[in-house]
Amino acid sequence: MKIGFIGLGIMGKPMSKNLLTAGYRLVVFDVNAAPMKELSALGAETAASPKEVAAKCDVVVTMLPNSPHVKAVVSGPRGVIEGAGPGKTVIDMSSIAPLASREIASLLAEKGVEMLDAPVSGGEPKAIDGTLSVMVGGKKDVFERCYPLMKAMAASVVRVGDTGAGNVAKLANQIVVALNIAAMSEALVFAAKAGVRPDLVYQAIRGGLAGSTVLDAKAPLVMDRKFSPGFRINLHIKDLGNVLETSREIGVPLPMTAAVMEMMQAIKVDGLGDADHCSLVRHYERMAHIEVNR
Ligand code: NAD
Repeated sequence: MKIGFIGLGIMGKPMSKNLLTAGYRLVVFDVNAAPMKELSALGAETAASPKEVAAKCDVVVTMLPNSPHVKAVVSGPRGVIEGAGPGKTVIDMSSIAPLASREIASLLAEKGVEMLDAPVSGGEPKAIDGTLSVMVGGKKDVFERCYPLMKAMAASVVRVGDTGAGNVAKLANQIVVALNIAAMSEALVFAAKAGVRPDLVYQAIRGGLAGSTVLDAKAPLVMDRKFSPGFRINLHIKDLGNVLETSREIGVPLPMTAAVMEMMQAIKVDGLGDADHCSLVRHYERMAHIEVNR
């Protein structure tokens, strides 16, 4: 089976390397030439357009920033749709709006092409280790056929429903993470301003009901003032934008998500869009005139 891979950024490059390691023949494309060269040196074939990737491959994986990029790659000029036909499959592993996934899937279906939306969580370290979590939307038989391919990049691959369901799960994940970071920020700033050492508060509460993966991953970074990404504020704003767009379409008020979105926007305006999302704490620190240190 020949696999196409489009989008060789922070996530796509290590994911495609893991496919090569697993023995798949690969054809790659990115608008940026540097990662294409790197993959070519490892044995991948390079293509000049998404159309060429689709013409040469049975399955095309996309790992792009957001909905407009996936739409452009699939249905824009020299897009996947021009090179694809019946029997081929697109697996979009980008985090995009679920409604966009459904639109793209129905465009592909008109040409007899199957699609899975299969966003991931885990970030760059797990992309490198091949231990991502993949949440998949799409037909059961297509999922089963593509399972071994996705498993070559992941520790867990779970089908959560039909087309768009993978991105609904991913956006739910991003709500939980954003609100956890906000709660952690409020708690640490509160403790610091009350004159109690945040590192001792963290040690005291992490084993109880307040403990969480977010608290363990992010509280030490905040106290050590390490704000390099990780997962950028700009990408979290993109995801919460997709959450709020979807919530308006389906009629679900999300007051907490909307509030955290506005604080992330404020952090971006302060020039921290490329910092890790735990830099949300700096918004709270400015409001309270206190810094969270060990
Ligand atoms: P990135 O910006 O590093 O990579 C995107 C790649 O797509 C770049 O190499 C870019 O050149 C390429 N690209 C953009 N437009 C293109 C086009 N029209 N044709 C071909 N290539 C094009 O982003 P990333 O961090 O790899 O994230 C990719 C997706 O994965 C996003 O949806 C993101 O939200 C999601 N994600 C990221 C992380 C993370 O920690 N970085 C974690 C989980 C999920």
